Amino acid sequence: MSADDLRSHAFVRGAGLNFQHRGERLTRFSLRRMRVAVCPECLKHDIANTNSQPQLAPYGRALWQIDAIKTCPTHDLALVTIAKDMTPGQMHDFTHHAAPRWPASTI
Ligand SMILES: [Zn+2]
Repeated sequence: MSADDLRSHAFVRGAGLNFQHRGERLTRFSLRRMRVAVCPECLKHDIANTNSQPQLAPYGRALWQIDAIKTCPTHDLALVTIAKDMTPGQMHDFTHHAAPRWPASTI
């Protein structure tokens, strides 16, 4: 993935409490900043389709960080909160918080 691709999918902080994501304006309060929500089926898919170490395959989706998004658009399943009350220095480390919760049957 190129740097431009990463940048185009990033949450970019604007003035005050505002963020921009793929042309959408969001406020800080519309983002899940202190919780990690995932779709378990997406994680299973990541693990099942990797050529690398399974524990390195799952990744967080940007949509999972938007509080208004409650279901996975791919699997039509409710997102599951797997971590909360994170310290500020660790809140954006998806693997740190999610790895202990990977589906046990897939690793
Ligand atoms: Zn999913």
